[in-house]
Amino acid sequence: MNPRIIPEDIIQRIRERADIVEIVSAHLRVDKAGQNFKGLCPFHSEKTPSFTVSPSRQMFHCFGCGTGGDIFSFIMKINGESFTSAVRQVADRVGIHVPSVSDHPGGDKIARRRETLIQLNEDVANFFETSLWHDSLGKRGMEYLNTRAIQEETIRTFRLGFARPSWDALAKAMHAKGWTDNDLVDAGVAISRNAQDGAQRTGVYDRFRDRIIFPIFDLQNRVIAFGGRVLDKTQPKYLNSPETLLFHKSQQLYAMEKARTEATRHNALMVVEGYFDVIALHQAGIQNVVATLGTALTSSHLPLIQRFSKNLKLVFDPDTAGIRAALRTAAVEMLDLFAGRGISVDVVTLPDQRDPDTVVREEGTAAFDQLVKGAETLIDFVIRHNLSQATDQSIEAHVESLDTILAIIAKTSDSYQSLYLKQIAERLGIDEHALRMQHRAASVKTNKPAKRIRRIAEPPPSPQSGQVEEMLLQLVIQGKVNPEWLGDLQASEFLNRDYQTLFSWARAMPENEHLTHTQHFVSFGERNPEYESLISRLALRPLEFEEHTIERAVRECVSRIKARNLDNQFSERTRQIRIAEREGCSTKDMHTQLEALRQEKSAYAQ
Ligand SMILES: [Zn+2]
Repeated sequence: MNPRIIPEDIIQRIRERADIVEIVSAHLRVDKAGQNFKGLCPFHSEKTPSFTVSPSRQMFHCFGCGTGGDIFSFIMKINGESFTSAVRQVADRVGIHVPSVSDHPGGDKIARRRETLIQLNEDVANFFETSLWHDSLGKRGMEYLNTRAIQEETIRTFRLGFARPSWDALAKAMHAKGWTDNDLVDAGVAISRNAQDGAQRTGVYDRFRDRIIFPIFDLQNRVIAFGGRVLDKTQPKYLNSPETLLFHKSQQLYAMEKARTEATRHNALMVVEGYFDVIALHQAGIQNVVATLGTALTSSHLPLIQRFSKNLKLVFDPDTAGIRAALRTAAVEMLDLFAGRGISVDVVTLPDQRDPDTVVREEGTAAFDQLVKGAETLIDFVIRHNLSQATDQSIEAHVESLDTILAIIAKTSDSYQSLYLKQIAERLGIDEHALRMQHRAASVKTNKPAKRIRRIAEPPPSPQSGQVEEMLLQLVIQGKVNPEWLGDLQASEFLNRDYQTLFSWARAMPENEHLTHTQHFVSFGERNPEYESLISRLALRPLEFEEHTIERAVRECVSRIKARNLDNQFSERTRQIRIAEREGCSTKDMHTQLEALRQEKSAYAQ
């Protein structure tokens, strides 16, 4: 599962030399607060800082949304990178050389190939830009952008370009720079002739011809693909790079790298339909805007989206037939997946078949803002659309629409369900009771248990005993506990399963490495991301006692856990004796055991 391409000791050295405060500061403002630094969390929207960075522990934790971890997981989360690439980034910063591991044939070869393709894409992007700005043929492209009212500054920001009306202009230029046909095909900017029509011809031809070019960037602003739009009515109107080592269109969003900051700031991300809509809105100062890359918005976009915002606004012209159909079918999945992750989805309806580009150009930003304010929830939107269908179509379509609506309603919370059912019954003039019956049938069918994200630190069985367990574990993770104080306390004596895991892990550490070094937990969290938030929370939560009372506190926690467990055993044994007596069995042995428990218990009496 865990591709540890970089040796553990090097990771350790990198971690020791790096400074998490410095890395975090590059992304948000943090101010000193006691021993730690605090700032507004980049992972959720908040007004008072609960995002805490600890220079001494080299960890971060947000006490608002629970996101936490070490320097590598911060980079992974904020940039959406892999562990390996996060480690390499920090390594570069602190000047530690990470050997390029050629003995890991698979992983490293791919990583190197990706690097190569990124360099090639950069050359390609430059070529397209030069064609637009300096080529006589590019004039047509520039004129076209003028008619769309795209300003020069915007053209530069988005690095728009032009592909000449030629079969090999790009290929020739790239050959001259030393790139091979193979490179061009792998990057998706050229197409092999062989693949097209038998083996008679060799070589490649340009994929993008006579088109405005939109480079597509990753979150680090590296060109990973291209989109191209025709200047006239030629089909296809839009053409994107194919899937490559760098480009997975169903997971990426156009201009996410430019929208991320504003999306986090406003806690809202708008999704529009096309490149020009994105560009026009950004140009107008509305910058929390992205577009899908020729695919519908699906669950595969989720990981990217949820890093930046919990509120999604789909800006569509819902009267376009295709969009309407797509929304209807996608709605159930969206509600399932997005709502399940706490992401709200609203639909911004644009009037009169207009696109966002036209609205901001002709009516201004304020008019667009107004439309966004009037967004309805995805559920309301889909119900409304299905209802209008249900009222004016055939019986079959009517039934189908109703089924769709009921399936959607089944995904909402109970309190909304009855509200919606009432509304629908009224609109369709159906008996509300009958609708409810049908709804119940539909819910049984669709009601698979929602996939719950594993919750760490679930509310412990009894708040009091849970608090004791948590307090003890906090002291352990913060490195405050001398192993002797723990006596023979075993992980199995904790009731909370997550605490059990962490404690058994602490127990497994070699004693001479100091049983409870925080760094060990940091590495543990890296290898087991589901524990990261719990570890960072306990590591960074302020201690409630003074240093000199810690030993007493630890011993008391241990006693209370033991006493509680003995209590539980004692009551269980008593219950068994009662049953045995009722059934006339001998209880002599049981009483002896009970007596032993009583004595053990008295040792922990408070
Ligand atoms: Zn947060």
